[in-house]
Amino acid sequence: MSQTGQHRPAPRRLIVLGSTGSIGVNTLDVVGHLRGTDHELDIVGLAAGRNVPLLIEQAKTFDVKHVAIADASLATQLQSALPGVTVFSGDQAALELVESVEAQELVAAVVGSAGLPATMCAAKRGMTIGLANKETLVAAGSLVTPAIRQHNAKLIPVDSEHSAIFQCLDGQQNQSIKRIVLTASGGPFREATKEQIQNATVKEALNHPTWDMGPKITIDSASMMNKALEIIEAHWLFDLPSDKIDVIIHPQSIVHSFVEFADNSILAQLGPPDMRTPIQYALTYPQRLEGCSRHMDWTELSGLTFEPPDHDRFGALKLAYEVIDAGGTAGAIFNAANEAAVDAFLKEKIRFGQITELVAQALSAITVTPVDSLETAMDADQQARDFVNTAVKKTVLM
Ligand code: MG
Repeated sequence: MSQTGQHRPAPRRLIVLGSTGSIGVNTLDVVGHLRGTDHELDIVGLAAGRNVPLLIEQAKTFDVKHVAIADASLATQLQSALPGVTVFSGDQAALELVESVEAQELVAAVVGSAGLPATMCAAKRGMTIGLANKETLVAAGSLVTPAIRQHNAKLIPVDSEHSAIFQCLDGQQNQSIKRIVLTASGGPFREATKEQIQNATVKEALNHPTWDMGPKITIDSASMMNKALEIIEAHWLFDLPSDKIDVIIHPQSIVHSFVEFADNSILAQLGPPDMRTPIQYALTYPQRLEGCSRHMDWTELSGLTFEPPDHDRFGALKLAYEVIDAGGTAGAIFNAANEAAVDAFLKEKIRFGQITELVAQALSAITVTPVDSLETAMDADQQARDFVNTAVKKTVLM
């Protein structure tokens, strides 16, 4: 503390990967909200896929000196709008950004296993990683989690369920956990019949009842693949076996998940469904600051309901447990097969029900091997994409 007044720590330098997506936009909102607090952040790098207009606006608003764009054909347009800013472009752009720009904090919000190399790099650089990119842990948790420990990095979950568990576990030993329970909204097909789900349209699948998110995660929520990915993510984040991770359907999305301890006590984390809350917690951990979500008015709540998931209509959950038990490249295969199948569904090449079917087929067709390097994981990822894309080509939609 200086004599002249309050002494604030220097702003921590932050890179945001996936800045133009739903989590990225919310992250920038939180960074703006934290201005003038002890947790002020200086955004030094932004990476996006192809939304150039929004990336330009973000870079100007936050005076960001380094930007990355995955679609290389957009680099010239980006550079001419941002003179004096370093532009990285192409498949490796996000990785190059993390490799070459000095920063302490990363928010990893790229969609899909495309975010893996940059997140691994951030781990090796000892950064504090706010992880929204669940596919990274699913595809290569056995590489990412040791790298985090070895390089003294920190992994703080941004996914609302995992943030909830992270908050509930604060200071607790892993041994005292009886089980964790991930809540799921149930998505748009919670009450649909098996046949309705099988033949659901893109429009129906994109209509999520409680969360406003990008297309990939919204489709994943409708198929329950999102929850399946989260089961595997939880396995890596909290070092828990498959039989200690449960799922319950909670349509109101107010209880974000809970932990049952050895003494049968249960701790839950609750709040309005607003991603800015877990994002802010990851950025200010272990402190809690004034939040930017709306205040929860308990008098408006008529009730919180919970029901077990239906494994018959939603086959994805069972696959997640199989993936954890299989280990090795099973996670990478599972994730990549799903990414390729979701892409095919969004392009209306397959029926909604085929997403889960194709993922199950990829898992039984492709040999699982131990993950000894990033290349092994990425190879398995590619094999699974090839498998699904070949199967999609053979599909003739009626
Ligand atoms: Mg989630």
